[in-house]
Amino acid sequence: MHKLTLAAMQRSLESGEFSSVELCQHLIERTKQHNETLNAFVSITEEQALSEAKAADEKRAAGDTLGSLHGLPIAHKDIFCTDGVRTSCGSKMLENFVPPYNATVVEKLKSAGAISLGKTNMDEFAMGSSNENSFFGVVRNPWDTERVPGGSSGGSAAAVAGRLVPACTGTDTGGSIRQPAAFCGITGIKPTYGRVSRYGMIAFASSLDQGGPLAATAEDCALLLNEMAGFDPRDSTSIDRANDDYMATLHQPVKGMKIGLPKQYFEAGLDDSIAALLQQAIKELEKLGAEFVDIELKNQHLAVPAYYIVAPAECSSNLARFDGVRYGHRCEDPKDLEDLYKRSRAEGFGREVKRRILVGTYALSAGYYDAFYVKAQKIRSLISQDFSQAFADVDFILGPTTPSPAFKIGEKTSDPVAMYLNDIYTIPANLAGLPGISVPCGDVGGLPVGLQLVGNYFDEARLLNVAHQYQTVTDWHTRIPG
Ligand code: GLN
Repeated sequence: MHKLTLAAMQRSLESGEFSSVELCQHLIERTKQHNETLNAFVSITEEQALSEAKAADEKRAAGDTLGSLHGLPIAHKDIFCTDGVRTSCGSKMLENFVPPYNATVVEKLKSAGAISLGKTNMDEFAMGSSNENSFFGVVRNPWDTERVPGGSSGGSAAAVAGRLVPACTGTDTGGSIRQPAAFCGITGIKPTYGRVSRYGMIAFASSLDQGGPLAATAEDCALLLNEMAGFDPRDSTSIDRANDDYMATLHQPVKGMKIGLPKQYFEAGLDDSIAALLQQAIKELEKLGAEFVDIELKNQHLAVPAYYIVAPAECSSNLARFDGVRYGHRCEDPKDLEDLYKRSRAEGFGREVKRRILVGTYALSAGYYDAFYVKAQKIRSLISQDFSQAFADVDFILGPTTPSPAFKIGEKTSDPVAMYLNDIYTIPANLAGLPGISVPCGDVGGLPVGLQLVGNYFDEARLLNVAHQYQTVTDWHTRIPG
């Protein structure tokens, strides 16, 4: 049962092959069994899930109208607020935080009938590329448990790859959906900034954060995104625009689509084995009728440095709310207010979060604001302009998702810059607010590799369409770790 895609589970529920209770029960047992090794879940909401599954089966039996995800199991990254269920954001700071409301994404998926089996592990406040920054411990990659699953949505990616659950929510500020999807051999899409509501999604860097789905296939991502996307008056950056039907366009032909290959993505720094796999994928897409052209993204090399000013600057502001007064961890016996702030934050935040807050406050300080923050914003505009120019000629941009396959646990922890460089191909889309998808395209020594397609604003439907068509002629997305 657990090997089925979300779409296949949906068909089986409809035909009565198994019930939602049977399905959820099976996946919860599997999760309990494998979570000891993988550590992909930080909470399993068994009782709630099974009672919702029972209600879903009853509703189906009664012949009621059903939502598009009726009775289907999913899990949420622990960054999304869940009413009555602890939402830790991977931090000691929120170890005991139980929100009194649901994030819009959680609410929307729930009203479509999806059943949450629990909350998935993540890097603390979504800061990381390896899931080694979680207060709840490292997540292990199901393809090789000595390796990282990527981050920050590493728990979600490992849970889907290990077939503990068919699909999960994630968030992507600099690559946190696409990079773990690539490392774990699954599909993940970061939508256009403003497409999915950020209400109730704990903020890291508000001008970059965007929620999206992770699942085995592009089709499953489309099923989820259909419900997740949409205008939300409670998020001031949400875009008021009609929803697309991502399922309806999956089967359109790729023929005639023009895909750009940025020279800068195929230069030094990219693993030879990954470059070779991308060439194979290009051939497959050519056979489907896509046309490839070389393009330039001139300021690509400035994306990581600009991101590591903008993201920490925004995080230093967003995380100021965790001061021991209203939310989260509070130190014992504070002497005075200043002591309360200092010790609550010193005890509640981990090393990487503190590093980002320090970098951010420094970059925003009066003496350095122009030299760092303003300059980074200018680079951000240049990167967006590069993309706009490229999209005047091409429909999509293809490249690697990551420079290498999943690395070993501990391999990059002592070198933050080496860790930051892992997101060199994913960060530009966040800086520009563009949608991007990572799709499995091969393996290197048994470790999955992902290719990334970046589309123009609000072109999620066509991104999912091309990814789905690619998956009809390849089988990398069907592979399951032993
Ligand atoms: N790895 C990047 C970082 O550490 C991106 C994280 C994310 O997308 N949330 O900031």
